[in-house]
Amino acid sequence: MKLDATDLRYVTSEEFRVLTAVEMGSKNHEVVPTPLIAQISGLKNGGVNKLIGSLAKRNLVSKVQNSKYDGYRLTYGGYDYLAMRAMSKRDTLASVGNQIGVGKESDIYVVADGEGKEMVLKIHRLGRISFRTIKSKRDYMGKRKSASWMYMSRLAAQKEWAFMKVLHENGFPVPKPIDQARHCILMEFIDAYPLRQIAEVESPGKLYSQLMDLIVRFARSGLIHGDFNEFNILIRDTGEPIVIDFPQMVSTSHENAEWYFNRDVECIRTFFKRRYGYESSLYPRFKSIRSSDESEETFRLDVVVAASGFGRKDMKVLEEYMDAVKDEGGSDKENEEGEDEEEEEEEEEEEDEDEEDEEEKEGVPLGDEGSNSQNVEDDPPKS
Ligand code: ADP
Ligand code: MG
Repeated sequence: MKLDATDLRYVTSEEFRVLTAVEMGSKNHEVVPTPLIAQISGLKNGGVNKLIGSLAKRNLVSKVQNSKYDGYRLTYGGYDYLAMRAMSKRDTLASVGNQIGVGKESDIYVVADGEGKEMVLKIHRLGRISFRTIKSKRDYMGKRKSASWMYMSRLAAQKEWAFMKVLHENGFPVPKPIDQARHCILMEFIDAYPLRQIAEVESPGKLYSQLMDLIVRFARSGLIHGDFNEFNILIRDTGEPIVIDFPQMVSTSHENAEWYFNRDVECIRTFFKRRYGYESSLYPRFKSIRSSDESEETFRLDVVVAASGFGRKDMKVLEEYMDAVKDEGGSDKENEEGEDEEEEEEEEEEEDEDEEDEEEKEGVPLGDEGSNSQNVEDDPPKS
């Protein structure tokens, strides 16, 4: 999918109404019937056909012929367009530049505002991996029985946004969050390289303790990054580390918190040993953080985030999705081949539920985007 900023200008207001109608119709229909699109958009049937044809030509929607009826589906491109248009209306985003990253579950672009100031647009792409595994899991999606890529991607963006905001407001070294719409986040561009690309550092010991201090600082505030590794730590010229990538953050009250905490610590230890030949017997333990936590009054950012609108249920839905797709390689580390001796460790922790291998449908019903009505189980993932 190509992101084309010129598209932002060339969608007419009527086309936009039709596109929005397809998005709305998607909440209850896997394939939105054309008459419904006409009805929602309030335009005449004949008029809609032409408009939707023009949207389909630009890959903002795609036509689906199915046995019961024909209709349309919103594409990634259409959803991207809607998100970017929302940002552009708010004057936070004016143009789109090069793609600088392709993760398994996100695309990263350099973009600019009206003054030409560079920023980063992160587009969440959950569901690029199949929904096969998730569909056979517990019925946490409620009546819908399946996840939609739109819904999950949007949840991931909302979660990342909520955390980035709270972290930034509390002085953590993270990019400044600028805007969020649907499955997209706009943030400050950090002029730095991922630690992964840094062959040598002046003082590995100093950086090591800076990073461990960060893990501790997170935990003292009730948070665990959950993917604290050489891909998600950017190092500025000055040596200052900036942490990115928050959709998998967990609270220190999470029942598997200690495991997540240890994994973050272990990632850094392993990387420093392998890359810089640096080893230290000093590293933080979860237990010592917890006990000091309980004795003194600390601020709980996990609680702040929960109060910010991204609630426990949203968190749970996303967490279960992430658990389910882990089988197919969810995190950055698992995308790397070779050299990582630690990979097996993660696999051992995975859920071992048997999957009834449901057939994988290409499209899945799109759920209602609010999650309050969902039927979310309270028991945490087994590990
Ligand atoms: P993913 O969830 O796909 O791992 P990340 O948020 O980790 O996505 O971003 C992927 C890559 O994009 C990073 O490793 C980094 O190189 C680049 N990147 C992400 N955010 C920024 C930013 N704010 N400034 C500069 N580069 C960034
Ligand atoms: Mg990452």
